[in-house]
Amino acid sequence: MSEIERTATSALEQGQPVWEYADAPESTDIVRLEDRYGLFVGGEFVEPKSGTYFTTIDPATEEPLAEIAEAGPEDVDLAVTAARSAYETTWLSLPGSERAKYLYRIARQIQERAREFAVLETMNGGKPIKESRDVDLPLAAAHFFYYAGWADKLEYAFPNRSPRPVGVAGQIIPWNFPMLMAAWKLAPALATGNTVVLKPAETTPLTALLLAQVIQEAELPPGVVNIVTGAGATGSALVEHGDVDKIAFTGSTEVGKIIRRATAGTGKRLTLELGGKAANIVFEDAPLDQAVEGVVNGIFFNQGHVCCAGSRLLVQEPVFEPLLEKLKERLQTLRVGNPLDKNTDVGAINSRAQLTKIEELVAAGVEEGAEIYQPECGLPERGFWFRPTLFTNVSQSHRIAREEIFGPVLSILTFRTPDEAVEKANNTPYGLSAGIWTEKGSRILWMAERMNAGVVWANTFNRFDPTSPFGGYKESGFGREGGLQGLEPYLELGR
Ligand code: NDP
Repeated sequence: MSEIERTATSALEQGQPVWEYADAPESTDIVRLEDRYGLFVGGEFVEPKSGTYFTTIDPATEEPLAEIAEAGPEDVDLAVTAARSAYETTWLSLPGSERAKYLYRIARQIQERAREFAVLETMNGGKPIKESRDVDLPLAAAHFFYYAGWADKLEYAFPNRSPRPVGVAGQIIPWNFPMLMAAWKLAPALATGNTVVLKPAETTPLTALLLAQVIQEAELPPGVVNIVTGAGATGSALVEHGDVDKIAFTGSTEVGKIIRRATAGTGKRLTLELGGKAANIVFEDAPLDQAVEGVVNGIFFNQGHVCCAGSRLLVQEPVFEPLLEKLKERLQTLRVGNPLDKNTDVGAINSRAQLTKIEELVAAGVEEGAEIYQPECGLPERGFWFRPTLFTNVSQSHRIAREEIFGPVLSILTFRTPDEAVEKANNTPYGLSAGIWTEKGSRILWMAERMNAGVVWANTFNRFDPTSPFGGYKESGFGREGGLQGLEPYLELGR
């Protein structure tokens, strides 16, 4: 009897669904890893002046992948100097139509090498290959294409306001969407005529370094994009550098507050895209099967490492029981494991530190009296893993209902009236996103008007498009990325 038949037989005996999939691992042959990566400064890969390197690993196996240069203050200074020089000598005076050509070239190369990028993203970050392949990479390319289109039309985007670039932008990105966040940051900054120093997250530097190779091949003038790898101290050196004109940060609210303090009074422009604790609200008239898919996508996409994740489910009381039953059934079918397997739904947690944080918050949920549900799925022995988790009996004061867990953990609460749904949904220090599930168009509009959230999805969740602005309110930050609005933070506009 084959392994598949054995699994099916044993599942049948336990009364579980009998479907089992054969392994379908994506090959890693397409990825050419170097043993050691330098910093990308002035169009070249250079050794760090700091002389230090750190190891980046695969979170699904804990195997080392490569040594990565750690940029110290002197390295950050060289990168900023290269960006300033490129800004003044080439990029500022280049017509928008010429800048657009480079952006189109980068976009096409990302498309051509999409599989290589996707496999590398999954190896370094732990996200399922089907997500890096079907979401992260197509969206990253789309961002470059979209902003390439604006590069020579800024006068039309902001008529009579003489748009001018800001100068040198310092951009700091997190580990949950490394390539996509790099695209969100770089494309609008370059289209508007700025030069950039980008700091990828410590745990996920590899796709940004592959992007540096693409940028070299696209023959972008040296110094227009510089990439400095390292940890928080590298980001901090970039924020504090005196010759940076603008900081764009995506990451935790905690670090966002530090950066806001550090930039206050310096004249540096700032945009912050921070945490979230979004409500996904299901009304009794919602198509439940569709809502279940949206709820699952809302919280288990990318292991819940998503700032706009629908981590609080608000269910109207009459449909609480049937929805919960359907959700539990659906969780049983989620496949957790090797992120490189094309059938995997939930991959590895990005780092041991993040796993510890998730475990700590889940333990707090249990201790505070919420009821936990996890499907019975096996987990690989090595690597960082967490089962998809539901909590019921959650009250609004519980930590799991208030704090951003940033993992595959859903807290379920109930409501009776639309007013109560609005009150509960907005009862959070965050304000990044919200989801509404109902058949009534009028109710969607009524609810959307009352959500304190930058993005409101109706009968869908986690939909992204380069033409659509994204950003938050309150402790989720300020400034918008994407769309016409995403150009503004990188421009000086006359009145
Ligand atoms: P951070 O906010 O620390 O990381 C985001 C980026 O900022 C990384 O590149 C990080 O570098 C860098 N950084 C860290 N400290 C500083 C500093 N003082 N000055 C400038 N840059 C800095 O997020 P973490 O990775 O520590 O994750 C912690 C929590 O944040 C998560 O559990 C999650 O709740 C939340 N988070 C939210 C994100 C979002 O998009 N809303 C994204 C990521 C995390 P390095 O990687 O080297 O630390």
